[in-house]
Amino acid sequence: MSLRVYNTLARKKEKFVPREKGKVSMYVCGPTVYNYIHIGNARCYVAFDVIYRYLQHKGYDVTYVRNLTDIDDKIIKRANKEGLTTKEIADKYIKAFHKDMKNLGNRSSRIEPKATEHISEMIETINCLIRKGFAYEVDGDVFFEIQRFGDYGKLSGRTIEEMRAGERVDVDMKKRHPMDFALWKAAKSREPSWDSPWGKGRPGWHIECSVMSSKYLGMGFDIHGGGHDLIFPHHENEIAQAEACAGKVPFVKYWLHNGFVNIKEEKMAKSLGNVILVREILKEYDPNVLRMFFVSTHYRSPINYSEENLNAVASALERIKTVIHNINYLVESGAKTEQDDLGEKRFKEVVVGVESKFLEAMDDDFNTASALGVIFEFVKEMNFFLEKNQKNLSESAKCLLLEARDKLIGFMTVLGIELGVEKAVEELPDALIGIAEKIFGRTFEDKNEALKVLIEAREKARKDKDWAKADLIRDKLSAQYFVLKDTPQGCQIIFEGK
Ligand SMILES: [Zn+2]
Repeated sequence: MSLRVYNTLARKKEKFVPREKGKVSMYVCGPTVYNYIHIGNARCYVAFDVIYRYLQHKGYDVTYVRNLTDIDDKIIKRANKEGLTTKEIADKYIKAFHKDMKNLGNRSSRIEPKATEHISEMIETINCLIRKGFAYEVDGDVFFEIQRFGDYGKLSGRTIEEMRAGERVDVDMKKRHPMDFALWKAAKSREPSWDSPWGKGRPGWHIECSVMSSKYLGMGFDIHGGGHDLIFPHHENEIAQAEACAGKVPFVKYWLHNGFVNIKEEKMAKSLGNVILVREILKEYDPNVLRMFFVSTHYRSPINYSEENLNAVASALERIKTVIHNINYLVESGAKTEQDDLGEKRFKEVVVGVESKFLEAMDDDFNTASALGVIFEFVKEMNFFLEKNQKNLSESAKCLLLEARDKLIGFMTVLGIELGVEKAVEELPDALIGIAEKIFGRTFEDKNEALKVLIEAREKARKDKDWAKADLIRDKLSAQYFVLKDTPQGCQIIFEGK
C-alpha cells in the first residue's frame, strides 16, 4: 500500500516518495500573531496535524516545522492600537496560539522558528537575489523582479497577466512591474527595524517562510502546507525566492493546501462580521467535536460550519464513545461461559480486515472522510457483535472485543481524537467528592483525596473478590458519567459527561 497525495504544483495526485527513506520533512505556514486564531486557521492546523500523525503512524520520522510570523504590518497596527510594543503583542498572541493548539489536541511541531530570530539569514538571501539579478533596491526597499524568474506562476497556474487581472495591485512607482513584491521594507517612523545593507527596515512576509523552511529542512524538502488562500501570492513567491537564490529546483516536492471554512454557507470574513474564534467555540463544544467536524470532510474540500453540523458530528462521536464504553462495561461485568459461536468467525474477519481499509482511505490523499466511513461501519459491526454476545461472553469473544476497541481507539488517535486520554484531576467535576462521601459516609477534603480513596477501595474490593463492593463503586461513578479505566499506569477515573 502506498500513500498518494494531491500536489498543487502537479495539479494531480502523486505517489508520495520522500526525499530520504523513512524520513519526512514538512513545513506549514504558521500564524501571524496579532490576534486569536479563528476557525479557518484551526482547520489548517488540524488538517496538517492529522497528516503529521498519519505519517508518524506509517512509521516515518517526521520533522515538522511551523513558523511564527512575529513581525508584520498587522502586528505593528495592533501594537499601536493597544499601546504595546510589537514584541508584547507577539508574545501575548503566541501564548494564546499555543493554548488553542493544545486545546485542539494538536501535537507540537518539532521546530517553531520566529521570523524576528532569522533576520540575518533573510538579509543574506535578499543579498543573494540582488547579486543574481532577481531583485533590486529602491530607496531602502528591495523588490523581487518577477519577470526575471521564468517559472513565476507555476504553482498557481496563472500567467502574470491573469494575476494582474485577479489582484488589486497598489500602484507603486518604485516597482519595475506592478506584481513585483517586497523582500525588504524600509523603516517608517514608529516601526521596529533592523540594520541592513539597504538601511534600517524589516523583511517582507514571503521571504520569512522560504528562508526559515530551507534553513531547517534544506532545499527540496518534502511537504509544504498551508491554506488554499496562500497559494497565490505567498507560496508562489516563496518558490520564486528559494529557487532563484539556490539556482536549482525544486524548493519543495509536494505542495498541499487545505480548503476554506464557510460559515452557514457564507464566506468567513471580517467585513461580514462572521469570524468565529477557536477559543469561543471551545467554550461550548468539546475539542473532539470540533476535530471530528473538520475530519468529517476531506481536507481539500470546503467545509460548512454551522451549529447543526457541529451537533450532528457530536452525536456521531457519541456513537463511538458508547461502543467503547459498552465494551468496557461488558468485559468487566459480563458472564463468562464457553459458548457456541455467536458470530465470532465473521467478526474476527472484520477486526482483521479493518486496518487495511482504514489505511487505504488515509493513503488516498489523507481521506479522513472515507476513513470515518470505515470507522462507522466498524462501529456498526462492533455493536452487532456486542448485542449477540452480551448475555454470554466467552473468553475468546472478550479478547476479540478488546482488540476491536483498541483498534478503534487507535484509528481515532490518528485523527487526533484521543478518546482514551485521561483528564487531569483538577478537570474532573466536583461531583466526584459527593460520590465518595456517599459511598464512604464521611467528608472529603478535595478531589485528589476522593479520587485516591475511590481507586484504592475498588482495587482492594477486586483483590478481596468483594464483587458487590467493586460494582457499587463502579455503578455510583458511572451514574454520574465517571468511568473507571485500567491503564498501564494503573486504574484511573475519567469523566465522560459534558
Ligand atoms: Zn508562509
